Amino acid sequence: MNFLDKYAEEFARYDQLDQDFIDDDKIWAQLNKSENPSREDVRQVLKKAEQCVRLDPEETAILLQNKDETMLQEMFELAHQLKEEVYGDRIVFFAPLYISDECANNCLYCGFRSSNQAIHRKTLTMEELEQEVRIMIEEGQKRTVLVYGESPRTDIDFICDTVRKVYSVKTEHGAIRRANINCAPLTVEELKKLKDVGIGTYQVFQETYHHDTYRQVHPEGTIKGHYRWRLYCMDRAQEAGVDDNGIGVLFGLYDWRFEVMGLLYHTIHLEENFNGVGPHTISFPRITPAIGTPYSLNPRYAVSDADFKKLIAVLRLSVPYTGLICTAREPDHVRKEVIPLGVSQIDAGTRIGVGGYAQSQKANEMPDHEQFSIGDERSLDSIVKEICDMSYIPSFCTACYRAGRTGEQFMKVAKARFVHNFCLPNAMLTFKEYLQDYASEETRQKGERILQDNLAQFKDRANYAEITEKLNRIQEGERDLRF
Ligand code: SAM
Ligand code: SF4
Repeated sequence: MNFLDKYAEEFARYDQLDQDFIDDDKIWAQLNKSENPSREDVRQVLKKAEQCVRLDPEETAILLQNKDETMLQEMFELAHQLKEEVYGDRIVFFAPLYISDECANNCLYCGFRSSNQAIHRKTLTMEELEQEVRIMIEEGQKRTVLVYGESPRTDIDFICDTVRKVYSVKTEHGAIRRANINCAPLTVEELKKLKDVGIGTYQVFQETYHHDTYRQVHPEGTIKGHYRWRLYCMDRAQEAGVDDNGIGVLFGLYDWRFEVMGLLYHTIHLEENFNGVGPHTISFPRITPAIGTPYSLNPRYAVSDADFKKLIAVLRLSVPYTGLICTAREPDHVRKEVIPLGVSQIDAGTRIGVGGYAQSQKANEMPDHEQFSIGDERSLDSIVKEICDMSYIPSFCTACYRAGRTGEQFMKVAKARFVHNFCLPNAMLTFKEYLQDYASEETRQKGERILQDNLAQFKDRANYAEITEKLNRIQEGERDLRF
């Protein structure tokens, strides 16, 4: 049976649907209706957003179409305020781990696409994977996202083996405590296997929600060419019990305003069908140049920095409880500007080639088989230091997922605005570990000041003594304490 045949029955199920939950004409009608909204229209939407509730598509369209500079500033201010309310001053850190760049698909924008002759293909052996994980742990990483192409060589059993391997590696400083996954859409049966090996978030980006554009950039006859197989993959995940999911768009393929509406409709679809559980995270990578991939050099709908800022603020205002991830594809100065607008997670110390961590140690350079290029190549320590300079607290926390607070459980905690009460203490504990085990002297000094400032906020609270006691135990050498 060929690779694609395996999916024929599954595809047929979706082909029978009259329509899916993305209605291109309706989205454009909503955007067009809100062309140049008045200040009053925008203020009315912001008034609702202040309540920390998910916005309706018509409201999001108004924000997306606002071109008034004064109102834009008000949007930025409120986005910042909501982020502080829901997430506090935390920024969660992770790093990707590329397992394989072998891929049967031929996405026009991606360096891993099958017709790209400019890269040589590699899938990590278990020994090489172990080496990568060791290096990451020794650099201070606790959370990773494992990234795969889509190929018979990297089937679900291989993926599960790699997850088990990642969790099994222990060094003097600990282990990777949370492995998220970014791979192809899977069947329910395959997703159940992923659930059993204890993944964190299951991420699949739709890339573009616009049907025609999707067809143009994902050739027919490839698995990825099937729009609905991808669109409904988080439904299958929920069905399989994988309730911690990440969606995303690859910005640059189509109009950014349409894509934000697509993300919102996807969120609404999941919330309506799965007891209010929408995506845990939204990612919004912009296309960056990939070797041997002309499309990536000059994307037709390239998003300017100004529009990028705006789309992040609109997402924060529209889905206040969803984590927003800004990756190292963005250069440092852009990340610095957008973090205050609502970003809750960033990667740092990132190496994106397969075998990239070992290679960067050997030759201080990137391998030649990268999917795309990155904009922020700084070390984890220097990014941690910068986050401290911005008065945020870096978090390596993995407590919620390990305590089973995912899906409906997580949403209850998040929606009650307790995330920062709950998560801030855990951020402090994991940051303390980082400072003890990995930080340079300069980062350690800055970090200790941030810890003291944050601790001061708890002075009159019931858990002050317990946080202080746990911090002291970490200072004395204990690890992995959490609330
Ligand atoms: N192969 C799986 C898939 O396509 O879903 C998962 C991994 S793919 C390597 C991860 C993501 O990288 C894709 O979903 C896409 O959004 C992003 N990507 C691909 N090409 C890119 C480029 N040139 N610049 C930035 N991001 C890119
Ligand atoms: Fe393969 Fe994913 Fe790249 Fe497409 S985006 S070519 S599916 S690795």
